[in-house]
Amino acid sequence: MTREVKIHPLFSPWGRFGLYSFFIDAPEPAIVDTGIASSPAEGMASSLEALGRSIEEVRWILLTHGHIDHLGGAHALSELTGGRAKVAIHEADVHLLRSRRAHVDLYMDVRRQYLDNPHAEEEQTKMADAVISGEMEPDVLLKDGETLSLGGDVTVSVHPVPGHTAGSVAYVVDGQADMFTGDAVQVHGAANGFPGYEDPAAYRSSLRYLRDEIRPRHLYLGHPYRTAAGVPYGVELDSDQAQAAIQESLDIEARIADATRRHLREGLRETDSAYSPFARVAEELSYTGDPALEPSPFFTTLHGYRKQFHQES
Ligand SMILES: [Zn+2]
Repeated sequence: MTREVKIHPLFSPWGRFGLYSFFIDAPEPAIVDTGIASSPAEGMASSLEALGRSIEEVRWILLTHGHIDHLGGAHALSELTGGRAKVAIHEADVHLLRSRRAHVDLYMDVRRQYLDNPHAEEEQTKMADAVISGEMEPDVLLKDGETLSLGGDVTVSVHPVPGHTAGSVAYVVDGQADMFTGDAVQVHGAANGFPGYEDPAAYRSSLRYLRDEIRPRHLYLGHPYRTAAGVPYGVELDSDQAQAAIQESLDIEARIADATRRHLREGLRETDSAYSPFARVAEELSYTGDPALEPSPFFTTLHGYRKQFHQES
């Protein structure tokens, strides 16, 4: 590569969250992740103007996975480029780009059974309508290990890293090992203080792959995930911080796995605890966060171990 490709984080506010997207300043400029419906017009446009750039220039929309806070703005961003940007997402998460209802189903299939909220379906439907800017087909359906050309000699390689969701991918700018992982590296989670992943075994092996095979020079995270002490890492990590964040993610996963498997073997108990049926797991991990606070990673993650345990036994 002749010259280094610059990366710029773009910030969009959303309630108690800040959403991060990243601008890759390639000959065909790319944006990694799109926030929610309002993010392109409200957050990205002004951030790009401050860089002396404009949103119309964007030619690639690279989605790390299918969650609403990452793809909600995809349709709106595509419109702002006059439809000239190509949208890429992995095939295992594409239903979440094609359909708002798929997000409601995700909730109804897993979290609903742990959360006592009779209005959940209605609330989830309203939220999907409000924060997803449009249902759409991708231009590029990622399967495994593609290389995308961003013009000139700039290429981005795609690395499937399932676990957080089945279709999570890492994008790596070739030649300079700048890596975007969305939510695939959770450390101790963000605001909820608990890491969220649907498939624990896949999450673990994806983290090992990132640690041992990619060894990023910079790691760009989808949220400012926190250390064990609750200190946010920020979203732009150097190589030492990247290895530390990946290792810490593996360490906390091992602790959760150990506690959860033991209590699964002993048998789960329904109690009136907000953490039920995983109250003893929460206690052992000293987790005191609100387990009902959306997106409720405590239940998503522990449900993943439960599912795996039933498949094994
Ligand atoms: Zn996510």
